[in-house]
Amino acid sequence: MDIPFVDLETQYNRLRPEIDDAIQSVIDDTAFVRGPYVSEFEEAYAEAYGVDHCISVSNGTDAIYVVLRMLGIGPGDEVITVANSWISTSETIGQTGAKPVFVDIEPEYFNIDADQIEEKISENTKAIIPVHLYGQPAKIDTVTEIARAHDLYVIEDTAQAHFAEYDGQRVGTFGIAGTFSFYPGKNLGAYGDAGAIVTNDDELARRCRMFSDHGASEKHDHEIEGINSRLDGIQAAVLSVKLPYILDWNQDRYEHAQKYTRRLKDIPGITPPAVRSDASHVFHLYVIRVDEGRDELQSFLESQGISTSIHYPTALPFLKAYEHRGFQPSDFPVAHDYQEQILSLPMYPEMTEEMIDCVTSLIGDWAKERS
Ligand SMILES: *Cc1c(COP(=O)(O)O)cnc(C)c1O
Repeated sequence: MDIPFVDLETQYNRLRPEIDDAIQSVIDDTAFVRGPYVSEFEEAYAEAYGVDHCISVSNGTDAIYVVLRMLGIGPGDEVITVANSWISTSETIGQTGAKPVFVDIEPEYFNIDADQIEEKISENTKAIIPVHLYGQPAKIDTVTEIARAHDLYVIEDTAQAHFAEYDGQRVGTFGIAGTFSFYPGKNLGAYGDAGAIVTNDDELARRCRMFSDHGASEKHDHEIEGINSRLDGIQAAVLSVKLPYILDWNQDRYEHAQKYTRRLKDIPGITPPAVRSDASHVFHLYVIRVDEGRDELQSFLESQGISTSIHYPTALPFLKAYEHRGFQPSDFPVAHDYQEQILSLPMYPEMTEEMIDCVTSLIGDWAKERS
């Protein structure tokens, strides 16, 4: 059985009439950039998320950058973030002129180790960016407590965790702002690049909206120099069609994850992902750890038609982009060791039980063969 890592086609086929209509309407109305379809999506997302403001931008990377800039973060400042994430989380810090300061991950949950944050705070620290990686909330209560004690902003990178909850509260609503990506493969995905910022801070919302449209609050009224990071009408229309389904899709992902875990938990050398007891995990990615032979397992699965992936093959501090910082493996031992162990299995709402059985029995066969 061939199983892709992500399948966007099946979902499109199910929603095809709605999506095609939505796209056609945008074209008929020539409402291509910002405009009514974008406003409609922003309002719907803010309402669904239970926040005062949703500001759409061109992608999830800009969402972080725009918030950082509008909080006044820049050269000479430091921003604390996590050693294992997609580079957007740290490159946006660098884009402002500030310095990313990395913290190792917690061994069980792959997220920022909140107990190691305080020792990284200096007099230049301005903010913390936790990432709710793979769809699992970071230990956000501890992060916000530390931030409050040291007068720091918290910006939650929620690109992988739309609608996940910690202690019954949606992630992305704990700090000054939450940032989202609607990249096609994310839990809520557009048909191209798209992103958004959510916040309950009126002034920050106003500034983010202005900055992302050339610094103009009204057309030609440029209060500041900004950037061009606006959402397309077509992306907004696709997102508006998909939004009503997100909670069901997250639930489907969660159920698939439970099935995976039940079938994998007794295989020697394989560690399924742990779920925090005080949080809901929306399984953007289902990431196992393989004690030994991860690459071999990946090739074996590939040879059997199963596509897998690695998130991420190199932890941020060890990327070439940060070579000049001179980090050592012992600076981030957990993130460093996990680079060789983590493996992301196929995960999307449209998976079937048969597919999960197929993947897990092949992993079982491989482990038996190896022992
Ligand atoms: C996808 C992603 C982003 C960036 O989103 P884009 O829309 O691709 O710019 C940021 N952070 C994390 C953790 C992501 O997974």
